Amino acid sequence: MERKIRVLVAKPGLDGHDRGALVIAQALRDEGMEVVYTGLRQTPAQIVASAVQEDVDVIGLSCLSGAHNELFPEVVRLLKEQGAEDIIVVGGGVIPDEDIPFLEENGIAKVFTPGTKTKDTADFIRHKIDEKDGISAPIMDSPNKIEHIGIAVKNLEEAVKFYTQMLGLKLLGFETVESEQVRVAFLEIGETRLELLEATDENSAIAKFITKKGEGIHHIALNVDNQQERLDALKNAGVRLIHETPKLGAHNNMVAFLHPKATNGVLLELCQQAEKAELQGHADGHK
Ligand code: ZN
Repeated sequence: MERKIRVLVAKPGLDGHDRGALVIAQALRDEGMEVVYTGLRQTPAQIVASAVQEDVDVIGLSCLSGAHNELFPEVVRLLKEQGAEDIIVVGGGVIPDEDIPFLEENGIAKVFTPGTKTKDTADFIRHKIDEKDGISAPIMDSPNKIEHIGIAVKNLEEAVKFYTQMLGLKLLGFETVESEQVRVAFLEIGETRLELLEATDENSAIAKFITKKGEGIHHIALNVDNQQERLDALKNAGVRLIHETPKLGAHNNMVAFLHPKATNGVLLELCQQAEKAELQGHADGHK
């Protein structure tokens, strides 16, 4: 998400210490959030008014006086009254463990105890906001490795000559992928590969790429397991895909591309060995 998360750090009630609140405010700023601090001794009504006025995403309540069981739910209640219940409320301060369930039942998204790392608080806030925005992050296992880097070239033979003779890479072979209207050469480099791609037709995506941008890196392919599951999860999270289901690509890989608009300008390919993908498809009861 590009927009900055806005947080109101507020001190409801009568206690006169705000060192803790100030520390949290600064720490959240360090995490890239915009933080407004209300100052001491705020009533729930004042806090809610500031939150609405400042158009914040989150209110962080800090209370040391022991009145949290009245003050925190009151803030939640007033937010509802103002039609601002989409503002997430979290709390901290001196709060006995046994009060936490009560507060969470009363609309406090999370109560942070004094030992909580600010990083965890910030992560929680970010996660909550993503959830609210409908971005449920499909956190999965890391892809296994960079399967290959695809490089668009005008002349495959000449490019292969350079990469083998000048750089000493090992040529694994040539292949034509009819569906993509490309001829490719794979070069081995450690456990990954370079894929040089030459267009076989002027309508090929590679031909268009070269016309538009010239030769160069065309895509990065990540080797994954659970390819279809990942695509489904990404789709559900609103990530723009070029292929919602994988298709057979070069080297007996099932491939699917994510749209560069979704990936900071990089055409990303998710690929998985065809046999593995096939097995998984069968195990899932669909193909
Ligand atoms: Zn590729």
